[in-house]
Order: sequence, then structure tokens, then C-alpha cells
Amino acid sequence: MAGKMKAVVIHAPGEYALEEVDIPKPKRGEVLVKIRAIAICGSDPGIFAGRVRANGWPPCYPFVAGHEFAGEVVEIGESVTVLRPGDRVSGEAHCGCGVCENCKRGMYNLCLNYGNKEAGHRHYGHNTEGCYAQYQVYDQKALSRMPDNVSFDEGTLVDTAGTALNALRLCGVVPGGNTVVIGPGPMGISAMLIAKAMGSSVIMVGRGERLMFAGKLGADELIDYEKTGDPVLEVRRMTGGYGADQVIEAAGNTTAFLESVQMAKKGGQVAFISIPSEDGQSIAGKYLVMNQISLHGTRANPNCSRHILHMISNGSLGTLKNMITHVFPIDQTREAFDTFIRRRDGAVKVLIHPFAEPA
Ligand SMILES: [Zn+2]
Ligand SMILES: [Zn+2]
Repeated sequence: MAGKMKAVVIHAPGEYALEEVDIPKPKRGEVLVKIRAIAICGSDPGIFAGRVRANGWPPCYPFVAGHEFAGEVVEIGESVTVLRPGDRVSGEAHCGCGVCENCKRGMYNLCLNYGNKEAGHRHYGHNTEGCYAQYQVYDQKALSRMPDNVSFDEGTLVDTAGTALNALRLCGVVPGGNTVVIGPGPMGISAMLIAKAMGSSVIMVGRGERLMFAGKLGADELIDYEKTGDPVLEVRRMTGGYGADQVIEAAGNTTAFLESVQMAKKGGQVAFISIPSEDGQSIAGKYLVMNQISLHGTRANPNCSRHILHMISNGSLGTLKNMITHVFPIDQTREAFDTFIRRRDGAVKVLIHPFAEPA
């Protein structure tokens, strides 16, 4: 499919514009996706502003970022076996080489060939161009076919919700247990909804409007750390003095890293989802050792998309879409980012539609 398309092109840190560029061509194992809906990720503003260039995101300019999307396959390259034109798909950021030891074990989020394009590794929207465009090419491994009753808008949430599922899986959530989630943003709310769907009760820790929003979406108990005293003591009080079976840290500040460990019960599990700004964060090391807490770093969402899509389709994550508070057309990308970053009008998940037709 030759022709031109609109894309949000970043030219330098903080400098981007909507431009007409060539529609890319799918290579071997790749498909061309018509992007129908994009979600702004919490990590996108940093990539646009050039704050995470040390990670190689982006590796060069000009660059098209973005990794949370859904769309439809419009063209397939050579040797594509699992997708056909017309398939509705949602995407993942990580695409492993497929042949290294970690990829073979299903841990393609930890591909040992990270950054090696020759070997087939891709990190869409990070070190490989992404979805802030009307079309983009993707390796067939990075896409999941969506059930008919899952909308394109809902499909954009699969990457975020999948990461929350990965954290909960690492912690071994069991029905009837209790989970603490720190940080009522899109990631924390996803974790709350999935933990509830898995049969756990959820205490959400945060503050203000977003905490109230998490309560409206179904958190069993809320701890507003600005109003109550010590949130660690509050968690203990709510859990019969023991602490929680698992704690999901999705707030990304030093206090939350420290407190998340202290909120776990003896033998409990803690998952960090937020990327700390640097190494050497304070972690409650003594408490961790004395109480045999297991701590999991959580990176992305390997093998989670299919499960999230199924849970959206069967209604057990039916309220996930309530996180979508705003939708903008692609020519208002700047306004969309501003709304997301400033959390204007209670913004939680802000979407962009690259085409005028309804998603
Ligand atoms: Zn994301
Ligand atoms: Zn690999």
C-alpha cells in the first residue's frame, strides 16, 4: 500500500509536529496496521521530551513514538502465518528476537538481544518507530487478534493492563486474598480491576481525585495518605494486623518503594511496576529479610495480551474502559498530551484517533 499518511514526528527533545510521511512497507514476518486508536502512556511524555535518551528511547531523530494501540491489518508481508488483512489487533511494545534463551522461555520482555534489530528485536515506540501515526508496520509476534466485542478504544488498554497482570502473576494472587495497590493511575487501576477479577480484595493507596475515582471503579478500601496517618499502619489495621498478601507499587516515588515492602505480611510478595528514576532507591531491606518478603521487578507484559482481551470480552474487566476519560483527533495531539500531563478535567487515560471514522 503506497501513499502518504499523517504521523506525529519528533525532531528534537520536546519538538514534534504532525507531518505527511510515506506509509511504511511490511517486511518478512511483518504486517501493516491501520492504527484506529492510540493511548498516551505515562512513559510517552518522557520519550517526547528526550528525558530517557540514556535508555536509547528514541535512538535517533526524526522518530515516531507510541506503543499502546489497536487497529486493523491492511497488508501482510512475506511469511506471515497468523494474521490476515481485516484482522482487528491490539499491540505490545516488546517483540523479542524469538531465538535467545529468554525468548524461548516466553520471557521476550527480557530478550537477550535487546536493541539488536538484525536479530529481530523490536521495542516499538522506544527503539523502533511506533503508533503515533495512521499506519505502522509490526512483527506478527507483537500483535494479538481482538475478539469482535472488544472495541479499538479498549484494545489500546491491553498493554497497560497486561503489565498489571504480569505483576499480579509474579506475586501469585490467590482468590480470597488481599492486595494493596499503591498509585491509583491507569496502571494501578488496571491492577486493582484484575486483582478483583482474580478474586482478591483490594486496598488502594493514593490521594485526592484519582483515589476517589479508583473507589468508584471498585476498590474495596481506600487509604488517602494525605488524610490518614501512616499508610503502613492503616494497611495493617485493615488486614487484621498482618499486612497484605501482595503489594503492587505503581506510584513511582521513594516513599512508595519503601512502604510497599513494609505493607506486605510475613512471607508476602511485592511487585514494583514503576521504573525508579535511578538505582539506589530506599527499600526496607531489614523488614524484607526478617519477614521473608519476595520482591519482583516487573517489566512489561509477556504473554498477557490474550488473557486481558479475553477478560474484557467476557465482561470480567468490563469497567476497564471507564479509565478512558478523553479522546482527541490526531491533529490535536499537543492538546491531548497537555490534558494527559496536567490531568485536566480528571484525565486518566487519554486516547488519540488517527482517523475521523468512529473507532
Ligand atoms: Zn505503556
Ligand atoms: Zn530474544
